[in-house]
Amino acid sequence: DTRDIATPSKTKEILQKHGFTFKKSLGQNFLTEPNVLRKIVATAEIDEQTNVIEVGPGIGALTEQLAKSAKEVLAFEIDDRLISVLADTLHDYQNVKVIHQDVLKADLLKLTTENFTDNSLPLKVVANLPYYITTPIMMHFLESDLPVAEMVVMMQKEVADRISAVPGTKAYGSLSIAVQYFMEAKLAFIVPKTVFVPQPNVDSAILKLTRRNQPAVKVVDEREFFKLTKAAFQLRRKTLWNNLLHAYGKDEETKTWLLQSLERAAIDPKRRGETLSLAEFAALSNAMLTIKK
Ligand code: SAM
Repeated sequence: DTRDIATPSKTKEILQKHGFTFKKSLGQNFLTEPNVLRKIVATAEIDEQTNVIEVGPGIGALTEQLAKSAKEVLAFEIDDRLISVLADTLHDYQNVKVIHQDVLKADLLKLTTENFTDNSLPLKVVANLPYYITTPIMMHFLESDLPVAEMVVMMQKEVADRISAVPGTKAYGSLSIAVQYFMEAKLAFIVPKTVFVPQPNVDSAILKLTRRNQPAVKVVDEREFFKLTKAAFQLRRKTLWNNLLHAYGKDEETKTWLLQSLERAAIDPKRRGETLSLAEFAALSNAMLTIKK
């Protein structure tokens, strides 16, 4: 049988053979279009000198294409029913390891070091993400100490738009900043909902994230910087000033500190958070730490 797992006919056979029923709660929408999968692998520029982590292999549609190109593939799957399915469908691929675990609870650095034969090779994350936890998964990888060179990930188009958004647009927010601080984000291509079983309600997009040599901006304290960027978008239609008071306090001492910091960073308090660039947020955060209360 030379058909790819992702062909609609083979997917159907696999699901029937194993009596598999989809769990909506686990974000199970399987890709049934080999061409889209090949395009994902091409976008990720994977070769036999690349180690790949996959999140949510499902029945192995993407895993198979990754295994054909990469050195080794490590795939995290939470659904115990899929572990035996994967043992069957990926039987012929010696360079794949499936780990039965919630990726959000996984010690990524430890498991990666233990499971890849050659940890000096570049590491990429390639996945058709479970949409109910797209953001937590992205943050779990970014905040881990894993040296991820690139992430090529499928998600709801709306979330991909938010991650890759530029200042001054409606989609721009703390998520754009959290990701773009570490990675350069590019929307690679759109995937229509018709190529999945079952069909999701919305279209998807492939996002390509490339690790920057150093963070996009220089900040004195990363935690304070991210706290500020979150605070600035808390009350969506309010000014930066209102958001800052809401987050840091409304007493006179705090107001003075905030006003002096804004002035030092040359930012008008009447602006809205979504108009500030990463560099402006960095300047403000650094000023707040220098001036102190
Ligand atoms: N990769 C397959 C494909 O492209 O056809 C399946 C993708 S499906 C959108 C998401 C997969 O993630 C499902 O197999 C689901 O069981 C799995 N999953 C959901 N939550 C997970 C978690 N917390 N950790 C690991 N896998 C998870």
